Amino acid sequence: MSVGGDKIVVHEISEEQGEQTPVRRIPVGISACLTGMPVRHDGGHKHSRYCTQDLSAYFDLHTFCPEHDSGLPVPRPAMHLVERGDALRMEVIKTSEDVTGSIDAWSKEHLPHMSALSGFVLASKSPSCGFERVRVYSPKGDVLRRDAQGLFAHKLMQAFPQMPVEDAGRLFDPSLRENFLARVFIYDEWTQLCRDGITAKKLIEFHTRHKFQLLAQSEKTYRKLGPMLSQLNLRNGSAATKEGNQPAFSTLEELAEAYFAIFMDGMRQPSKRGSHVNVMLHLLGFFRTVLSGTERNSIKTHIEAYLRGELPLIVPISLLRHTLQRYPNDYLKNQAYLSPYPDALGLRNPL
Ligand code: SF4
Repeated sequence: MSVGGDKIVVHEISEEQGEQTPVRRIPVGISACLTGMPVRHDGGHKHSRYCTQDLSAYFDLHTFCPEHDSGLPVPRPAMHLVERGDALRMEVIKTSEDVTGSIDAWSKEHLPHMSALSGFVLASKSPSCGFERVRVYSPKGDVLRRDAQGLFAHKLMQAFPQMPVEDAGRLFDPSLRENFLARVFIYDEWTQLCRDGITAKKLIEFHTRHKFQLLAQSEKTYRKLGPMLSQLNLRNGSAATKEGNQPAFSTLEELAEAYFAIFMDGMRQPSKRGSHVNVMLHLLGFFRTVLSGTERNSIKTHIEAYLRGELPLIVPISLLRHTLQRYPNDYLKNQAYLSPYPDALGLRNPL
């Protein structure tokens, strides 16, 4: 696989530390300055230790600096976005020199290679990389608004609308962080799944595996996708014709693409406590014939304590996983909800 961009050196987790080195790191793009590379206009960086230390154990970080990589020097004059008529331009603040063309040309050349990435972490507020709330100025230098995306960031999100993209600053928020990384793992799984062509069987298996994860995130999406898959013709592996109010798809690929777009849209919002509680009680129901009333009540008590904010999500989840170990159930074992990503990322500890 060729992604492009520089790859940063990652550290291995030794088995003595209690974990195995992951077999394959997920390819994720990142603004180069976040990895400590001194590529900012002033020759500095915006090193995110969370990205280079915590995430690099699981993610293969590919660095890109649209400004430096497109030929602008370091150091260079500071730039900003300027609205001229209907167009958004990137200009040198002091001289109004327009550098939009070089960023556009670089993006056009490099974006196709980024299809191999499963996520992207962007530096905040940059006129090139900013994920959101980038300032837009008038030609006279007044702030017109604060709601733009950086030039490159905008093109990236347009080119790959389902790819999880996040602002490095927002990764400090535990629920945004969990949501972003959960989506990266899902996106990567989907990309792997489609690599050798999607089949009806693969699509059903993906849906089955992520059912509860999706239910915890968006019940509305969960209820929408089930009927959509009823159009699958499992016998010949194609998409069937229109059924009820569902749109018709002429090919399986078309249906799979629409399915995944809806799925990822549903995953975009961080889930609420009540939704997790709903899912966990549902999962607990699978053990009603094997657990004693006391054991069931004990797990339920922990789920209720989580609902009141007295315990983090990982506690009742661990109890459910422990119960699954005692009473194996193939259907539940396969559910991504119980282990959506490596525990060592600690994503559910602060939730
Ligand atoms: S924000 Fe983007 S363009 Fe600016 S220095 Fe960082 S990587 Fe380069």
